[in-house]
Amino acid sequence: MSLRRDLLEQDQHLRLGTELLHDPKRNKGTAFPEAERDALRLRGLLPPHVFSLQDQVDRALANIRRSPDPLQRYVATAAVQDRNETLYFRLLLDHLRELMPIVYTPTVGEACQKFGHIFRRPRGLFVSAEDRGRVEQVLRNWPNRDVRVIVVTDGERILGLGDLGAHGMGIPVGKLNLYTACAGVDPRVCLPITLDVGTNNSALLGDRFYVGLRQPRLVGQDYDDLIEEFVTAVQRVFPQTLLQWEDFGNRNAFRLLSRYRDRVPSFNDDIQGTAAVALAGVLSALRITGERLEDQRFLFLGAGEAGTGIADLIVAELVARGVAVEQARQQCWFVDSRGLVVADRDDLAAHKLPYAHRHAPTATLLDAVQALRPSALIGVSGQPQTFTREVVTALAEQHARPMIFALSNPTSKAECTAQQAYEWSGGRAIFASGSPFEPVELDGRTFVPGQGNNCYVFPGIGLGVVASQARCIGDELFTIAARTLADETSQQDLDSGCLYPPLEQIRRVSLRIAVAVAERVWENGATAAPRPDDVVAHVRSQVYEPDYESYV
Ligand code: NAD
Repeated sequence: MSLRRDLLEQDQHLRLGTELLHDPKRNKGTAFPEAERDALRLRGLLPPHVFSLQDQVDRALANIRRSPDPLQRYVATAAVQDRNETLYFRLLLDHLRELMPIVYTPTVGEACQKFGHIFRRPRGLFVSAEDRGRVEQVLRNWPNRDVRVIVVTDGERILGLGDLGAHGMGIPVGKLNLYTACAGVDPRVCLPITLDVGTNNSALLGDRFYVGLRQPRLVGQDYDDLIEEFVTAVQRVFPQTLLQWEDFGNRNAFRLLSRYRDRVPSFNDDIQGTAAVALAGVLSALRITGERLEDQRFLFLGAGEAGTGIADLIVAELVARGVAVEQARQQCWFVDSRGLVVADRDDLAAHKLPYAHRHAPTATLLDAVQALRPSALIGVSGQPQTFTREVVTALAEQHARPMIFALSNPTSKAECTAQQAYEWSGGRAIFASGSPFEPVELDGRTFVPGQGNNCYVFPGIGLGVVASQARCIGDELFTIAARTLADETSQQDLDSGCLYPPLEQIRRVSLRIAVAVAERVWENGATAAPRPDDVVAHVRSQVYEPDYESYV
C-alpha cells in the first residue's frame, strides 16, 4: 500500500495543496520539501522554511509538555493525530514511556469520562442501537475496505471506571494507537468501533454534552441481536479482520468471546491479553527463583475477567507441560468479594466454577494465605490496599521469594505499592504491578518493579495475526506470546527484579511475538494464506514505520 500510488490515483482536485494539508494521512505540514511544494500546489500555503520530521517531533513534544495537566496533554496529543498521522506516530513511538500514560491509562480514563466535553472531531465508527437493520450499511461508510484490526467496545466497563456508554470510544482509539506504536500495525488498516447500546450511567444521561443515545442499555435478546448483526456485518464488509472485544461488562465479555471466537478471529484483551502478560511475569519470576511452574500455588484476589483469564492460561501452560487439567486447576485458588471460592458455594458464575475446590470457607484474605500457603499472590480485584502488611508478612514467612502481583489499575487501586511489597517482605518479594511504580531503594539495594502492561502482548499478537491472516485465535497463541515475552526479558532486567523488558524495546519484543504467533498459525494450518519462505522477513515487511514517503 503506497501513499504515493494512492495519491496519484486520486482525482486531480485531491492533489490540491489545501486538500493535502487537511488530510492527516498525507499531511506533512512544514516538512513538505521544496519539490513537493511545487508539484502539489503547496507553494505559498506554508511558511518558507522546510522543517524535518525530527524538528516537528521536538516542537510537538514541547507543546504537549507545556499543557498544564494530563487531560490537556491528551487533547494536545490527539490534535497532532488529527493534523498529521505520521508525526503523531513518530512522536508516540520515540517517546512511548512519556506519552503512553497520556494516550492510554491512566489519562485515557479521564478523557473518556469527559469525552463529550473535550470532543473536537469524531474518530472511528459509532454503531448504535438505532442502527438495527442497517449495521452493514453503517460499516460501509468507513472509507477503507481493507480493515485488518477492529477494536470494539460497548462502553459498559471502561477500565475500572464502569459504564461510560458511548464515551468509551477513547479506549478502542487508544488501543489501536498502541497497535501501531508498539508493533507497527499500519494505522490505515485499524478501525475503532463503539457499539452504543445506551448507558445506565445517570450522570451521563443528564449531561447535555453526552454524545451517545440517551436511553438505558439494551439487554437480553435485543442486545444479542445487535451484536449478532454487527458480527455478521463485519464478516461481510471486512472479511480479513481481527476483532478485539474490549471493556465489555463481565456478564457479556465471557459469553461473547465463547460465542464468536470460532466464527471470527477474535479475542478479549481484558481476559486473554492480561493473562499472557501475567503468565510472562510468572515465567520470568521462575527464572529468578529457579523453581518450576508445576510447584507453584496461585492465590488470586478477584475472580473476574482478569483473574480467571490468568488462571485459565496458567492451566493451559501446565497442561502443555503434561500436567492433568484437574491437577493444574488445583494450583489456582480465588478469593472474591464473598470470600474463598469453594465447591460448597452456590453463588458462583460459570467462569469461577473450575476453581471452586473442596475447602472450608475462609473469612479473610489473610486466613486464605495462612490456610493455602500460596507461593504467588495476584491482585485483580480493583480493591486498593488489600495486600496489607499482615498478608505480605504471612506470605513472606512461608516462602523465600514470594510473587506479589498487584495488578489493579489505576495506581490508586493497586492492592499494595511496590515500596510496601519490598519493605514488608524484607526485600524478598518478586513484584509486578498493573500501573507503573518508581524504583524502590531498600537497605542499599535498588528494586525495579515491572509493569505488567498489556501492550507487551496484544500489538504483537495483532501483527502476527494480520501477517498470517489467521482464521481463528486459539489460547495457544497467548501462551506462545507469554513465553516469548518472558524470553525477551534480559538477565540484567531480572537481576534488578524487573520481570519485563524496558518499554523502549517494545517494537523488537512485538516483532518477536508476531513472528512466533505467525509461525504457529502456519504450523496449525489456521490460515488459507500460503506460508512465505522467510516468515521473519514477511512479518517485518508488514511493519509500519512513521516516516514521510516521497510524493514526487
Ligand atoms: P472484573 O470486574 O471482571 O473483576 C473484579 C473481581 O474482583 C470480581 O470477581 C469481584 O468479585 C472481585 N472483587 C471485588 N471486590 C472485592 C473484594 N473486596 N475482595 C475480593 N474480590 C473482590 O474486573 P477485571 O477485568 O478482572 O479487572 C480487575 C482489576 O484488574 C482492575 O482493577 C483492572 O484495572 C486490573 N487489570 C489489570 C491489567 C494489567 O495490569 N495488565 C489488565 C486487566 C485488568
